[in-house]
Amino acid sequence: MRCELISVGTEILLGDIVNTNSQYLSKRLADLGIGVLHQSTVGDNRQRLLRALDGAFRENELVILTGGLGPTPDDLTKEVCAEYFGLPMYTDTAVAEKIKGYFEKKGLVMPESNLKQALIPEGSTVLYNNNGTAPGSIIEKDGKIAVILPGPPFEMKPMFEESVVPFLRRFSEHIILSCNVRTFGIGESAMSERVRHLLDNANPSVAPYAKSGEALLRITARAHSEKEAKGLIEPVLKEITELIGDYIYGVDVENIEEATVSLLKEKGLTVAFAESCTGGLCSKRVTDVAGASDVIHCGVVSYSNDIKNKVLGVSAEHLLKYTAVSDVVAAEMAKGIKELSGADFGVSVTGYAGPCFEGCTDEIGTIYIAVTDGESLWLKKLSTGRTDREYNRYVSASNALNEVRLCAAAYPEKRSEGMNLEFFIESR
Ligand code: ATP
Repeated sequence: MRCELISVGTEILLGDIVNTNSQYLSKRLADLGIGVLHQSTVGDNRQRLLRALDGAFRENELVILTGGLGPTPDDLTKEVCAEYFGLPMYTDTAVAEKIKGYFEKKGLVMPESNLKQALIPEGSTVLYNNNGTAPGSIIEKDGKIAVILPGPPFEMKPMFEESVVPFLRRFSEHIILSCNVRTFGIGESAMSERVRHLLDNANPSVAPYAKSGEALLRITARAHSEKEAKGLIEPVLKEITELIGDYIYGVDVENIEEATVSLLKEKGLTVAFAESCTGGLCSKRVTDVAGASDVIHCGVVSYSNDIKNKVLGVSAEHLLKYTAVSDVVAAEMAKGIKELSGADFGVSVTGYAGPCFEGCTDEIGTIYIAVTDGESLWLKKLSTGRTDREYNRYVSASNALNEVRLCAAAYPEKRSEGMNLEFFIESR
């Protein structure tokens, strides 16, 4: 079955909102084995929406529309679909009662205009909305199917999962199952070279992707059941693990912060951050993960030299002699936050994030990361070669999180390649 997604809303065309609905639906439809061949966006305009529908149904049997189901006159999606299929609209009393009940529950008086949302194209299937007022609907006519869903993602997603997925399953003979192998510290091309022979596989397919300093491999299987798909993926995943296992930080995990928090938790370890150029991003990303309170003690944003010295105990002499962006200052920051917090690992990040103004030096993109357990020190210097502030900060935080992860992975053994913390600082 071929499908087109139509997002309705002038807000999307103006760039005021990001079209996350299409992303979500494309992904979920792929899981269901339904190919999305086109995505389009149309403003709140009757003629243009009619033309878009007409064009979409010339090439596809299924069209899923989101947005434009509100009570205002510029919300036209249902009306235009009814016009396209030549269906009259009627007021569905059950839907009208549900909308009234929605307002009553909130102690609000329902504006009369909301009753417009109870207008349904005749012969369509009503999709009740448990999270808002606008019902969706499914119109099936002449071998064409239009699925109409509300715009707000918190209304659209549950309606799609609860009502549309069971409906669509009967059109799909296959399921598509994907597995994401996330790596850190190996570039996309180096990773691709190592698994070169697998990239020509048909089922499961293996595809490399690069994302903000990371590389991932997506294994995708097409099968009649989840069990069959998992059976196809398993040997390929095993082979990939043998080839690039040292770089894999997780399979089907969201991101490096999730993998790091989960490992710290599993080993009963804690961490604290002293951040300069990342301005708290490491702490932010760790605390984005639910349950982070088990692993993070604190974070100090020590942007100024004064605070590096007063709060973290970084030597004023070293700050002057080596500058804030140096291996020794990174080491002292990590030591300082470890002592201040009592966490198992003290982690620091200090560097030049950019951007590049006139006359800027090639030091931008130079970042030092240090981790200590109080005895040993692991230092990493990054030279990103980029002057993009956002990129440099994000990649620095990712590297810091990965450094902690490597220390935690080795625990209770010590991670290799460490130096003696005190010796390193004193030798300066
Ligand atoms: P409502 O009944 O709330 O008016 P609606 O179905 O008419 O809903 P719209 O008015 O088109 O939907 O959009 C309402 C809000 O839903 C938008 O302001 C936006 O926040 C969100 N939204 C709409 N379309 C999308 C989309 N494609 N991706 C992400 N969010 C969207």
